[in-house]
Amino acid sequence: MPRGPVMEAATLRPMFQARRYQHCPTCGGQIEYRVPADDNRERATCTQCGAIHYENPLNVVGTLPVWGEQVLLCKRAIEPRLGKWTLPAGFMELGETLAEGAQRETVEEAGARIELENLYCVMNVVRVGQVHLFYRARLLSPDFDPGPETLEARLFHEHEIPWDEIAFHTIRETLQRFFDDRRSGRGYPLHTADIS
Ligand SMILES: [Zn+2]
Repeated sequence: MPRGPVMEAATLRPMFQARRYQHCPTCGGQIEYRVPADDNRERATCTQCGAIHYENPLNVVGTLPVWGEQVLLCKRAIEPRLGKWTLPAGFMELGETLAEGAQRETVEEAGARIELENLYCVMNVVRVGQVHLFYRARLLSPDFDPGPETLEARLFHEHEIPWDEIAFHTIRETLQRFFDDRRSGRGYPLHTADIS
């Protein structure tokens, strides 16, 4: 199943307690959050088989593809934020590098041909246990072939960006920083941010 870049904050606890498990993936038993011996935080512990399922942050990786003055956005065909606009991005897979993940997501979601440029934005989204990483990318053609997770892929000038229809906070941040950097003419240094 495809997963959106950010879990809905409303389903989470105020401090980071994403608690992905209710049932044990091994035996289906009930999960309780307990502090195991020799540990210092609560872990998903199976009340039936005793297995401990560790939960750690996930990387969401994507690109900011540029064609001349325009940037590529994708209209989401899936929840969460169905119908909202995003940069091509998704969960990194095992067996790939950050750059490979960014390339793959761009092909899968937009069917876009790109040449990756620098790693541009690294944002901690502690509340949902994710790190979002975006590369700048140069589009090799303005032709797209959106995949099943995308309703539409198209290019936008800065003044056309549907700021009220952007799917996720980190997408808005990345776009704003890009347009600011472009206006300043000082290049595109790596940006880091903590998103609360
Ligand atoms: Zn179990």
